[in-house]
Amino acid sequence: MVNNDAPARTAARGYRRIATEEAFAPASVLELYRNLKLDDPGFNSLWGFYLNSPSERAVSVIRRLQDLGAERLADMEATGIDHQIIALTSPGTQVFDAATARSVAIEANDILAEACRAHPDRYTGMAAMAPQDPASAVKEIERAVRQLGFKAVILNGHTLGEYHDGAQYWPIFEAAEALDVPIYLHPNAPPKQMIAPFLEAGLDGAVYGFGVDTGLHMLRIICAGVFDRFPKLQFIIGHAGEALPFWQYRLDYMYGAGQRARRYPHMPLLAHPISHYLANNVYITNSGVAWQPAIEFCQKVIGVDRVLYAMDYPYQFQADEVRTLDEMSIPDDHKKKFFQTNAERVFKLVD
Ligand code: MN
Repeated sequence: MVNNDAPARTAARGYRRIATEEAFAPASVLELYRNLKLDDPGFNSLWGFYLNSPSERAVSVIRRLQDLGAERLADMEATGIDHQIIALTSPGTQVFDAATARSVAIEANDILAEACRAHPDRYTGMAAMAPQDPASAVKEIERAVRQLGFKAVILNGHTLGEYHDGAQYWPIFEAAEALDVPIYLHPNAPPKQMIAPFLEAGLDGAVYGFGVDTGLHMLRIICAGVFDRFPKLQFIIGHAGEALPFWQYRLDYMYGAGQRARRYPHMPLLAHPISHYLANNVYITNSGVAWQPAIEFCQKVIGVDRVLYAMDYPYQFQADEVRTLDEMSIPDDHKKKFFQTNAERVFKLVD
């Protein structure tokens, strides 16, 4: 995969590279996935491929997901990544019954915390939790932040078709706001009730289905009024904002028109247009999108202080993309914010 020389070192370029949507999976979780009989076509498509395909891509992803030591550090060296913000890979805990999900979250957090303690200058953890059981999720988030030193929470899309905008999940949002840690809303494949047309065309995974799932999920959380209730809460979404910045004008116009006409009486009246929440409650990473036009567009729409770098290791482990991003023709101070200082602030990496 990596077939070129390492990108320039820190001193030569004037910024550290902090990658903010990087994944891992304990062997025990992959084993649970392997044995899971689930009526969820998105899960079966995604993990059926990665766990069973003999392709170089699948074999390398499965091996690298499990490594929090020598291979990961060597890969970071080879691609000039100074620091990874790491989360349990999607769908994480969110395909299990509540009891299994709770124990998977605790085990994954303990394993990740040990790696972060061994390599504090290279790794920072995001907290796994079991949204199936919001009260336990709140406890695990508190433990992970206060005791393990984690700096964010991972939410891996819907849970078996259930999106997390409902009031029963708001204690999780309340806890994140109170602890002042962002929630990284990571993709999952589209749920069973909407995946058929994606699967038919081979578009259910990261190619497109992920973006539809996460864009929809973020919008549902905004439209449910979560940020009117928790105005300081911060979310992070990857993949150049899951297309939401590109849709922003239409979202504002049509959602505003629908609200004024009370088209959907069951929905709350929002205090602000959707763009307000994108600009005040959402950070965007470029994960998987090493493309200046999209990154600059996000910076323009939601602000240079809200767009962060991510590689999406090990799924998109590409040294050439790091070089492409180094060479973006944007102001030097914007580039430093993108690669380094925004992440330092959002994840509180420096005192
Ligand atoms: Mn990812």
